[in-house]
Amino acid sequence: MKEKNFLDRVMEFEQHLQYMQEQFTLMIHDVAKMTEENHTLRLENEHLRERLNVLDEKLESPTKVKERATADVGEGVDNLARIYNEGYHVCNVHYGSSRKGEDCLFCLSFLSKHHS
Ligand SMILES: [Zn+2]
Repeated sequence: MKEKNFLDRVMEFEQHLQYMQEQFTLMIHDVAKMTEENHTLRLENEHLRERLNVLDEKLESPTKVKERATADVGEGVDNLARIYNEGYHVCNVHYGSSRKGEDCLFCLSFLSKHHS
């Protein structure tokens, strides 16, 4: 009688181990999924931050000019020239995207047209 009881306990223990193994596998899957999500969100965040910086500079220039009593007309174009020099398009064809180190004829003609 006691022996059977012991076997029952062993089998029960085995079932517990199997259950825990299953839970562990599920947890590993969750961790893998969360790691992947984290990676995606990190990249997206980086990308959005970059876009936000470009937009900030674009939005800041008219405000700054307005705040000053003596409006510097060349300021907005200087800002765009700076953004261009930092490696971003300022032309309306590719505005805000990275130039990837290459010069852009649209940007250059836009900047020279507005720079007198
Ligand atoms: Zn461009």
